[in-house]
Amino acid sequence: MRILVIEDERRIALSLKKGLELEHYVVDISYNGVEGFDLASTEEYDLIILDRMLPHMDGMAVCRELRKKDIPTPILMLTAKGQTKDKIEGLDAGADDYVAKPFSFEELLARIRALFRRPKETAATILSVGDLRLDTKNFVVTRKQIPISLSSKEYALLEYFMRHQGQILSKEQIISHVWDYDADILPNTIEVYIKNLRSKIDDPFVGNAPLIHTVRGFGYKLATI
Ligand code: CA
Repeated sequence: MRILVIEDERRIALSLKKGLELEHYVVDISYNGVEGFDLASTEEYDLIILDRMLPHMDGMAVCRELRKKDIPTPILMLTAKGQTKDKIEGLDAGADDYVAKPFSFEELLARIRALFRRPKETAATILSVGDLRLDTKNFVVTRKQIPISLSSKEYALLEYFMRHQGQILSKEQIISHVWDYDADILPNTIEVYIKNLRSKIDDPFVGNAPLIHTVRGFGYKLATI
């Protein structure tokens, strides 16, 4: 899952990036509102963490303009102020949630997990497809209750697939949600990652239907059939 952090305080932006990358998220940073708005409107993100006080274009304006352009990406707003009025203004501008600085990183993570939950999902942090399970809180993946060890990128790729189960995902979509803006990644590299993931998720489970499917000419999907 790819996150854009728009925050002018470098120390905070960089520590967010570092912390979120440890949680297997892919993170791009923008240090001002104008550039952040451009990135958010041209790149595909799964979440935007938006500081309220920014040079050039403040967080409130970024939020309003993105919604005006019908960009539905969930927005989590950060602010130094914890006043009810600011909270209401942020939500009215189109933000989905709001965290006041200083915040605890654990709380921020919990709010991010909540925003990634689809509406019908409950508080569960476990994603499943058939007998494959992914625990987004403890980063544990199992199939038929057997633990599967994945690299950070394989985990990120699988999480993206599991959150879009049954959907055909193109290589371009996969690249833009699983790698950051600076990554120089070619479509062929995706084939290598898929092959590795199959060797862990499907190949060892002989006699069970494979979960990763190639849809020739379109991409890949994760599904029980
Ligand atoms: Ca700021």
